[in-house]
Amino acid sequence: MKNIAILGSTGSIGTQTLEIVRNNPDLRVVALAAGSSVEKMEAQIREFHPSKACMWSEDAAADLRVKVADLEVEVLAGMEGLLEIAVLPESQVLVTAIVGMIGIRPTIAAIEAGKDIALANKETLVCAGHIIMPLAERHGVAILPVDSEHSAIFQSLNGELIGRSGRREALYREIGIEKILLTASGGPFRGKAKEELRNMQAADALKHPNWTMGHKVTIDSSTLVNKGLEVMEAKWLFGVELDRIQVVVHPQSIVHSAVQYKDGAVIAQMGVPDMKLPIQYALFYPDRRPLEGRRLDLFELGQLTFEKPDTETFPGLALAYRAAEAGGSMPTVYNAANEKAVDMFLKGKLTYPGIAELIGEAMERHKVIADPSVADILETERETYEHVAHREQR
Ligand code: MG
Repeated sequence: MKNIAILGSTGSIGTQTLEIVRNNPDLRVVALAAGSSVEKMEAQIREFHPSKACMWSEDAAADLRVKVADLEVEVLAGMEGLLEIAVLPESQVLVTAIVGMIGIRPTIAAIEAGKDIALANKETLVCAGHIIMPLAERHGVAILPVDSEHSAIFQSLNGELIGRSGRREALYREIGIEKILLTASGGPFRGKAKEELRNMQAADALKHPNWTMGHKVTIDSSTLVNKGLEVMEAKWLFGVELDRIQVVVHPQSIVHSAVQYKDGAVIAQMGVPDMKLPIQYALFYPDRRPLEGRRLDLFELGQLTFEKPDTETFPGLALAYRAAEAGGSMPTVYNAANEKAVDMFLKGKLTYPGIAELIGEAMERHKVIADPSVADILETERETYEHVAHREQR
């Protein structure tokens, strides 16, 4: 029996994680946390019987307490609740599927308590990779990627680890990774010209060709900011330098990413797009469990295509490399400026190209803090939010 706790249980990754729990009787949910979806949370509690549940908003928690008064579950709220769930003695794995920097502190607490992390919260590594990775190493905790690309890289590396012992990070260096090929679908605006994007509305950007995801991630994937965050995530997870991470646009989303080795061999993980595979792989690593669903049919597919990302039309990716090169607190600025800008775009208060423009501006004016503490990161986030929010619509 493996006990898991899920932060962000009502979102896209969270609900798919629960589907895996449904299909694997040896997984047990001991705690759930969500933002404000009280009804969904109530249904999840009734089905999975966690001992604790947490709502980010105090009002939602109060609401939930009334709804589940007939059950044993203890309802918590806010950051305190997330931290309590993160370190729950009976849990072995924490699935971090919440969006945003609120994931950083619970992840740190969980690592310190010796929990393995099934990581789906990008911000944790983007903003605090320099804190998280060494901490995980010290506590002998595994950071298991849930993001489909990082799971693919992880899976492509596993064959090389056979017969070797030692810390994963050191082993990655030993193996001789020449390049990581990080694939990107290119999003709904792939191939569009700069001028065409001026008038794009939220509804246009929300049509992702291959994956069903939350709104924020879908916009991020259309701007290539999502890929930019994933480049930073990969840098920390696999200990490779930035210039060894190459983004490859692959519209079919069949090759989920690949590793090129020092002898020129390229090992990739392929399959039809389905987030349940990377989630399940993280939960049962190093075992593979059966998973029902569509299978890859190469004959039906016919061909796979690859192209260079258009960083001129989609500057979000180039900005990510710049933020990662600057390091320190700069990736936090990149992420926070994007969060705010996307929010403004979704509310019709910012043009589509305005998203990348605001990220660039926020980075321009920021003075890098070289080795930021969690407090520095959160303060940088706050300052960036404030700066971006003051920008008027152009
Ligand atoms: Mg991804």
